[in-house]
Amino acid sequence: MPQRVVCQQCGYVLYDGAELKPPDEIIQQYYGKCPNCGKKLALVPLDVEVKPAE
Ligand SMILES: [Zn+2]
Repeated sequence: MPQRVVCQQCGYVLYDGAELKPPDEIIQQYYGKCPNCGKKLALVPLDVEVKPAE
């Protein structure tokens, strides 16, 4: 199942792909903040949304 992870503040697509990745790994790739709006990404509460890609 394809996975898409977007910033809940601005909708920036942090990850979009066929491979399932844990959200913490994706957040680490961006050094803990959204590259588009600069929002600090945290796992608790979950600031990213994981949903199937269309
Ligand atoms: Zn953002």
